[in-house]
Amino acid sequence: MARQLLQHCLSCNGWTLAAECCGQQTRAAAPIKWSPEDAKAPYRRRLENVEDPAWVETLPKLGERTEEE
Ligand SMILES: [Zn+2]
Repeated sequence: MARQLLQHCLSCNGWTLAAECCGQQTRAAAPIKWSPEDAKAPYRRRLENVEDPAWVETLPKLGERTEEE
């Protein structure tokens, strides 16, 4: 299910709020709203406690590589 209410049917070129139309899945009518100025970033950093050194350990790491590869 898309993260946007308004959906677009590619078969009949119609607009709908349903997840399916004409027997196939509908597409989101427009991309999700996004801004490079992340207004909620300070709250998210506080929520995830990124200043705690233990938080660094939760980040994904690169796998081991050998010289032969
Ligand atoms: Zn349709």
